[in-house]
Amino acid sequence: MKLTVVGCGDAFGSGGRLQTCYHVEAAGTRFLIDCGATALIGLSRLGIDPNTIPTIFISHLHGDHFAGLVWWLVHAQHVAKRIVPLTVVGPEGIEARFTVAAEALFSGSTGVQRRYDLGFVELAKETPTDVDQVRVTPFEAKHPSGAPSYALRFEVDSKVLSFSGDSEWVDSLVPAGQGADLYIIECYQFDGAPRFHLSWKTIEAHLGRIGAKRIMLTHMAEPMLARRGEVTDPRVVLAEDGLVLDI
Ligand SMILES: [Zn+2]
Ligand SMILES: [Zn+2]
Repeated sequence: MKLTVVGCGDAFGSGGRLQTCYHVEAAGTRFLIDCGATALIGLSRLGIDPNTIPTIFISHLHGDHFAGLVWWLVHAQHVAKRIVPLTVVGPEGIEARFTVAAEALFSGSTGVQRRYDLGFVELAKETPTDVDQVRVTPFEAKHPSGAPSYALRFEVDSKVLSFSGDSEWVDSLVPAGQGADLYIIECYQFDGAPRFHLSWKTIEAHLGRIGAKRIMLTHMAEPMLARRGEVTDPRVVLAEDGLVLDI
């Protein structure tokens, strides 16, 4: 299984990084994890054709994690001429939030006759959902977004890939990433307890309990980026846009 970091930045362009988006290529399937506003820019840089992606999983309904769906919709219609179905999987209310965002930014875009099926699947806390050979289980995150915010645990290709989404520390982040082959964890600051986000010092204190084989730190704000060289734990990989990992 191959993971490509399409974007690993925070919401504010820290470090010149694109917003959250990961591309996963597994046996028989491909999918995205989150689709920040800059997702199409990242996919274009990497030469990944959006028409080859049948499923997009969304951790929570903040613009830097789902707004790219709006540009995706317009691109699919007018540029990519999409015909393959697209399934978007995310928190309760995702279709309504997507429609509001799309109509605000490209008025009339959701009413156009599409050449492909666009479906939405809502997640329920700690309930596994199977979509296109991927099993996803959402765990509660502590991060207000006007809908449930989730950490996502993916079982695919006999591997476990987990993603914290955005979250302050909450114990459900442990089962979300327990024993994962790779746990992508947001790391907004180096130390302290940032509101609704994590710091490296908090993550470090819980790594033993989580027991993930590898950790990738992501969603770093400028102060964390400046100190990321101080993270020397051998289990940890620091995310970079364009980074490719074999899982
Ligand atoms: Zn975010
Ligand atoms: Zn967020």
